[in-house]
Order: sequence, then structure tokens, then C-alpha cells
Amino acid sequence: MKAIQFDQLNPLGNSLMTEFTRVKGNRDLGGHADVTAWAKSAFWTPILAQLGISYDDIGTGGGGLVMNGSDEDFQNVQRWVEQGSGGMYTAYRDADSRVTLLKTAHKGHVRLNDKQRAFIDILLDATDENQGLVTIDLVNNSENVFVGSLFGGTIDVGDIEQFGKAIGRFDVVSSVGIFAHEVFEQVLAQRYSGGKVVTLSDNTANEIHKMAITDAENLVNGSTFEGYAKSNNVTITNGPNWRGTNKILIGGEIRNGNMDVNYRLNGVITTISIAIKNNNIISVKPL
Ligand SMILES: [Zn+2]
Repeated sequence: MKAIQFDQLNPLGNSLMTEFTRVKGNRDLGGHADVTAWAKSAFWTPILAQLGISYDDIGTGGGGLVMNGSDEDFQNVQRWVEQGSGGMYTAYRDADSRVTLLKTAHKGHVRLNDKQRAFIDILLDATDENQGLVTIDLVNNSENVFVGSLFGGTIDVGDIEQFGKAIGRFDVVSSVGIFAHEVFEQVLAQRYSGGKVVTLSDNTANEIHKMAITDAENLVNGSTFEGYAKSNNVTITNGPNWRGTNKILIGGEIRNGNMDVNYRLNGVITTISIAIKNNNIISVKPL
């Protein structure tokens, strides 16, 4: 597989885009309002063709997915998109932090398997610029966020990365599956709420969390999440921003200990032990 270094294209692309004027009344589109002209330009066409991408792959609507955070944090997202699609897609983030899925040169040669298809369908829906805008803040090993915060619109890439380590042959869960859970959850929460400020009841948030397990995590992992194991031993204390309702606000709860959870694959239950210190995942391994 040929790795595509979009970070090498970013600086060029951004400076090029500033030469286009904004389209009136289309403020959401910001600097890439003229994306079609930009992508069709004599400069870009041969580059995109070489990468197996056409300008049709780059959307022009006002919604879709915005991911704030450092380039380093976003590189995790790019890697998960590539891993989760068998290298057939990568993620590109423009100067406005808007995320687009791009097909790689594999287009038309290899088919996505069921897990990859489920993953890419979730990402294609999230990044669809004709669907409601979803805004996610990426953080890395924040003590305020355990994996993701539904009400905070936040995903902790450092926590998720741990799911890709040290699992070896017990391959029942992956970073890609957990990432899919968090993205799908934000898509549902923010589209139900009509924006990044999630105004849902705790009950609805819980329903969304369950849907993220059944309709995202399980499909992408190819296993079934079965909940806590008997050995589960996690203490949850109230954080600085804890409130009686919507307590999963950023900093609402602080977890410590070993969260032991069961996954079922081909009828076999595997217990995964997630070691947590102050909302940060230290390790993920089979018990
Ligand atoms: Zn969840």
C-alpha cells in the first residue's frame, strides 16, 4: 500500500485557497468556497489524479464534520481511517478544520469487507457536508475526558490509541472500533441537538451511547460488547465540573482502576482489562 502524505499537501493547499474570494452568504464554506475551481485547477488536477482522487470527492455543502485539535492529534484520525478501510480511504482536514474522506489509489481494485464497509459508512455520513454540522474537539490524554465526552463534543485520541496496542491474537476490540463509536455518538447527539451544544436528557444520551455500541462499535470490531466483567473494579468520583444531570460533561467524572469488559467473538467471551488513571487509559489487554 502506498501511503499518502496529505500533510505535505496541506500548506500548499491552504495558501492556494486564500487566493479565492469568499462566496457571499456562504460563510460556512470559508476559504474553500471555490473548492471546485480550486480542485479543477491546472495545478491540482494532475496531483489529485496521481492520488486516484477527483474533485468530486471533495464536498461543497455547509455541514459535515469539523475536527479541532493539533495536526499531531489529527494524524491519529488519519491512521485509523486508513487502518479501518484497509488503506482504501484516508482523511484530509482543510484550513477550516473540515474533514473529508478521500479514496486512495486503491479505488476500484479491492472491496471493503463488512467491518471496513460499516466503518466507512459511518465516516461518510459524518463527513457528508449536506448533513448537519458535527464539531468534535480532539484532545490527547486529557484528565477531563475518558475516551470521549458525549456532552463535551470531545474525543481523546490518546485513550483510543491504547485500544490498538498489546491486544495481539485477542483481536476483539480495536482503536478503529472505539473511534467509530465516538464519532457515531457525536453525529447522533449533535444532529439531535441541532448543534455542538448537546441539550439532550441523560436518558436520550444513554440511548445514543447504546446505539453507538450496537450500530458502530460492534459492527466495526466484528465482535459484541457484553458489558462489565465481574472483575471490573473502577472507582468514579465527581470531578470539578460534576453536575447531577449531564454528569458526563467534560470533567464531570474521574475514573480510576481497572475497567474489565467482555467482548463476544464466535461464541467465545474475552475479558479486556482497561487500566485507567485519572481518566487516562494506561493500557488495554486481555485479562
Ligand atoms: Zn458512548
